[in-house]
Amino acid sequence: MDVERVIQEALDNGYSYAGSLDISTMKPLNEVRDMCAADKCHAYNKNWACPPACGTVEECTAEIKTYSKGIIVQSTTTLEDEFDFEGIEELGKRHAKTTVDFTKYLREHYPDSRILPLSAGGCMFCKQCTYPDAPCRFPDMRTAPLEGYGIFVSDLCKKNNIEYNRGKGTLTYVGAFLFD
Ligand code: SF4
Repeated sequence: MDVERVIQEALDNGYSYAGSLDISTMKPLNEVRDMCAADKCHAYNKNWACPPACGTVEECTAEIKTYSKGIIVQSTTTLEDEFDFEGIEELGKRHAKTTVDFTKYLREHYPDSRILPLSAGGCMFCKQCTYPDAPCRFPDMRTAPLEGYGIFVSDLCKKNNIEYNRGKGTLTYVGAFLFD
């Protein structure tokens, strides 16, 4: 897969920004993973894409290393003020939908490629995740959170020369796609 082409395809599919990702900057950290265990997002131990089901920090590190290329994607909005919870929720929904749409697009257009979609928050492809009672229903559509893989997101953006803070009053959600 060609990185520049996939960046353009990400933009065409609805992301606000996209840029190349140096896989060597993907360094899962126990400190980030520990924040998942605090369960602030209420997805810990409730989703196949989240810890502990997505694997240990060591396993995530090993999995990431099997990929050679990647891109970072972002969805950005401008909030009315810091209490604009509606705007925050809308951005979350938009980012999740764009991630599902783009994952589908990549699976269809690159059927022979290995692709790891990483997003923000637990996988929301199914209304109700089957975890832990039955296996994941759509492994090809499963999107794991960057934080769940132990990635310090703002630092990842910085190391790849991609703005994380897009200006006063803006909010940005980040994702990544790893591939070969
Ligand atoms: S695809 Fe469905 S079953 Fe699999 S992790 Fe996502 S929500 Fe859960």
